[in-house]
Amino acid sequence: MISSVLPTYSRAPLSFVSGAGTWLVEADGRRFLDLGAGIAVNALGHAHPALVEALNTQAGQLWHTSNLYQIPQQQALADRLVEHTFADTVFFTNSGTEACELAVKMARKHFYDKGQPERVEIITFDGSFHGRSAAGIAAAGSEKMTKGFGPLLGGFTHLAFGDHEGLAAAVTETTCAIMVEPVQGEGGIRPLSDACLKGMRDLCDEHGILLILDEVQCGVGRTGKLFAHEWAGVTPDIMMVAKGIGGGFPLGAVLATESAASGMTAGTHGSTYGGNPLGCAVGCAVMDIISDPAFLAEVNRKASLMRQKLEGLVASYPDVFESLRGAGLMLGLKCKVTPGDVVSAGYGQEVITVPAADNVVRLLPPLTITDEEITEAVARLDAAAATLSAS
Ligand SMILES: *Cc1c(COP(=O)(O)O)cnc(C)c1O
Repeated sequence: MISSVLPTYSRAPLSFVSGAGTWLVEADGRRFLDLGAGIAVNALGHAHPALVEALNTQAGQLWHTSNLYQIPQQQALADRLVEHTFADTVFFTNSGTEACELAVKMARKHFYDKGQPERVEIITFDGSFHGRSAAGIAAAGSEKMTKGFGPLLGGFTHLAFGDHEGLAAAVTETTCAIMVEPVQGEGGIRPLSDACLKGMRDLCDEHGILLILDEVQCGVGRTGKLFAHEWAGVTPDIMMVAKGIGGGFPLGAVLATESAASGMTAGTHGSTYGGNPLGCAVGCAVMDIISDPAFLAEVNRKASLMRQKLEGLVASYPDVFESLRGAGLMLGLKCKVTPGDVVSAGYGQEVITVPAADNVVRLLPPLTITDEEITEAVARLDAAAATLSAS
């Protein structure tokens, strides 16, 4: 008999009842160190006082009106995002995949309105993940996500990740955009080199097409900059954001330049919940903390501490781990064993990690993780690895 919850997830036998900072408490009372942060969502950890305060204050005042009316919290968050990024304008969604939907629509509409309606094709890459909507699965294109769900939304050209020559050759007069994650998350923490991202920007400029960055996982301070593309010194035309921006409240956004967004006039897109007062009040609190250069400097300092300790872990268990990769506090342990076994062994030591493709275990701790917690987390990962190691 089918379970009352649609069985689309394979869930670990863990049920958390409360959380504070980097810690989660299981129903049986065990305290887990959380290096998953709900897959990079709880960027400020669990129950951050500023976020609890922002949500509670807003909850006591007004939950929902509608985008039929002005929403001051939405305006405030859009202003913060515009102030701190390349963007001129922002549309709010409830999730990453809805941000993908709009990014696709926006890119096509931009060229339609420019009198180039044939420009509809978007180039995407193997190993990418853009969410589970019809556009999201078609964009990523992997058989794992698309099989049985056809006919798929057309208009995507899939290339190998990092295939520079292939990319230059793939741009045609029907191409409207390149869509890419600066650091692939689900694909196994695969960072695009700065040179590669710059090359994509140049290629887009050369052909007058749009660069769409999916920073749903790598954005909002995760890599030590507010957004990951800042490391490469380039800016996109359109950017998808979600996960960390709500700190645990469902919130996403599409950021765009005025030019890229030029086709999105009144009536062309909408959302009932997108940008509601609760989400945006929390989003403002998140942005106020994470956009502070001192906060980001701390993320970078802690990231190098964590990286250094993890390099030691990889060296200690050469039969379990192959290498460490990633950027900032978005780290991946490439495994020689099944990543699911590493994650399970971690549960046994009360430390939470997240599996990804390409035989990688992801470490995406709250950006607020302390030095002591980093030391403790790596000690727990060491104990977990010991249970898998022959030596
Ligand atoms: C999680 C994720 C998405 C989808 O976000 P949802 O909120 O699950 O719809 C899209 N792109 C990337 C890079 C992601 O990591």
